Amino acid sequence: AKAEGKGNFQFYAGAMSDALLHKLGIEQALRHAVKADEFLLHYQPRVDTRSGELRSMEALVRWQHPERGLVPPLEFISVAEDTGLIVELGALVLEKACSQLAEWRRMGLPLKPVSVNVSPRQFNSDNLVSTLTGALARHAIPADLVELEITESCMMSDTEKVSASLAKLKAIGVRISVDDFGTGYSSLSQLQQLDVDVLKVDRSFTRNLADGEQSQAFFMTIVSMAHILDMQVVAEGVETVEQLEILQDLSCNEVQGYLISKPVPANEAEQFLRKKLLF
Ligand code: C2E
Ligand code: CA
Ligand code: CA
Ligand code: CA
Repeated sequence: AKAEGKGNFQFYAGAMSDALLHKLGIEQALRHAVKADEFLLHYQPRVDTRSGELRSMEALVRWQHPERGLVPPLEFISVAEDTGLIVELGALVLEKACSQLAEWRRMGLPLKPVSVNVSPRQFNSDNLVSTLTGALARHAIPADLVELEITESCMMSDTEKVSASLAKLKAIGVRISVDDFGTGYSSLSQLQQLDVDVLKVDRSFTRNLADGEQSQAFFMTIVSMAHILDMQVVAEGVETVEQLEILQDLSCNEVQGYLISKPVPANEAEQFLRKKLLF
């Protein structure tokens, strides 16, 4: 009977695709990693387009795997999202961001807001509000030092439900941004109804800026629309001086990208807080 069982297992294992085995492997390792707290945050500055002044920093999670080293989020966030582990992982990220702010405060550094990415599953979970208020309270961090980045596609699912969730978060006092704007399918009326503070324009639009007038006019239209709706605009993925100069002409409020800095560990991000002017 034992041999038969083993044979069955091999049969099923053989029938599983490499992709599925890979995903199951990641899931198991992730489960362990959440318990063992193998995650850390890197920070990428967001600066004023004209003055180069530091405005805030985005926290981006990395997995410090004991054998594989630093694993980028693209390799595990979607598995975490599919398995629901993202709710726990997201709570860890919020906790770490608040605890880092508290550490910088203890060091006497002038603080700037930290933005944290919130996945769709996390946004729709009932715990987000209590997780957030818990993390803020534990580290005595004022809510306006935290911004939540919610992807455009996630915000567009069910406008009424989304508005209600946003209202609860805004009542806490955190800022809200629409992440990867331009890659989802939001309508103008949906956007008008949402009480958000910041529009982060996806880096595909930044990449096209140097192509010509049409791309620039298009970007300018997004900026005008956002300003009419009382939102600040951030260009993601700014890599060249040429892009920066175009964005200055287009009155885009803030820029983020490799031109200013890649995401860096907390001890390096500390320098941004000290320097204040990043270009
Ligand atoms: P995102 O939220 O759009 O974050 C920006 C990503 O673009 C980051 O990749 C950043 O390193 C990269 N980036 C920044 N500037 C440039 C640039 O000038 N050029 C190029 N080519 N890339 C640039 P990263 O850190 O690998 O994160 C990838 C994605 O993983 C994020 O995209 C976000 O969707 C997700 N993610 C990261 N951290 C978290 C988290 O804590 N929770 C959740 N739910 N998702 C996260
Ligand atoms: Ca983001
Ligand atoms: Ca983005
Ligand atoms: Ca507003």
